[in-house]
Amino acid sequence: TSCGREDAGTDTGTDTGTAAASTCEGFEDGAAIGVALPQKTSENWVLAEQLFNEGLSDAGYEPSVQFANGGVSEQQAQINAMITNGVEVLVVGAIDGAQLGNQLQQAKDAGITVLAYDRLLTNTENVDYYVAYDNFKVGELQGQALLDGLAERKGEAPYNIELFAGSPDDANAQVFFDGAMSVLQPKIDDGTLNVVSGQTAFDQAVTQGWKAENAQKRADTLLSGNYASEDLDGVLSPNDTLARAVLTSVKAAGKDIPVVTGQDSEVESVKSIVAGEQYSTINKDTRDLVEHTITMVEGLGACEEIEVNDTDSYDNGVKTVPAYLLEPQIVTEENAADAYADDPTLSEITK
Ligand code: BGC
Repeated sequence: TSCGREDAGTDTGTDTGTAAASTCEGFEDGAAIGVALPQKTSENWVLAEQLFNEGLSDAGYEPSVQFANGGVSEQQAQINAMITNGVEVLVVGAIDGAQLGNQLQQAKDAGITVLAYDRLLTNTENVDYYVAYDNFKVGELQGQALLDGLAERKGEAPYNIELFAGSPDDANAQVFFDGAMSVLQPKIDDGTLNVVSGQTAFDQAVTQGWKAENAQKRADTLLSGNYASEDLDGVLSPNDTLARAVLTSVKAAGKDIPVVTGQDSEVESVKSIVAGEQYSTINKDTRDLVEHTITMVEGLGACEEIEVNDTDSYDNGVKTVPAYLLEPQIVTEENAADAYADDPTLSEITK
């Protein structure tokens, strides 16, 4: 429905009652592009900032790339300013995808195309496309890695495990968890896996703000409350930052290292995998995600049809957002050298 900057000013809103009839005007070199990033909760976001600045500049645009380390209201203010400054496209990695409704309505009114980047924007009509790695697949890969790691490192079932999820304001957190549970729930039901704390619901597993300290605190509590005389064999962790927090807690408690999953291929976690501690991570190369996003921006500028490959997974509560999903890859000690062969930093660690 959206192509470049739409002619938003001429529609009186009295005709069809549906989307404003739009004529694509496109945009050219020098166009302003806004990129609103969340907090620096993992390395992928920090890298994205640099890649968006470089890539958008190379493509001839004027990027404005901003983090909102102060939280939701800071991100709202940043997006307001980007709209006022006349951006043609807004790329949004939301802190809380449900809290930007007013900003996105203003963007729509100004004819700006909105791309949800990595994280879905929810409860709004005013998001045109979603570009991300396949989040459900990420969860499935994590769940399967946990099972594989347990069989590999911990001998015969049953296994004692605990479940961690990401921040509930990030729409991805639920999807990662659902993907993982699609693999793990049958194994909980048949007794292969025993969640000793009994905390199997998403709401019990969440980690506010994706903060390491929150995961570490919950792990401390789980260990002292449930594992005084039990081994902890495995932990589902939704990303690397939280995986390392769990490992820190386990070590402090003097327990054996459990099989712990992760995501993002962060430097410290890849080192940990190579050292035989953290079991797995996910390779979601930020370079590819940013590059694809910039391709979409260029397509919008040229009034081209935007390619999507998923039109039914991402219902945001108001609409199903057309998505372009990239394929995530599981990484363990076994395939790390291969997986990171063309990554200048990680290949040094895994070679
Ligand atoms: C991203 C993950 C990241 C997490 C915390 C999620 O939305 O998809 O890659 O680990 O945010 O920053």
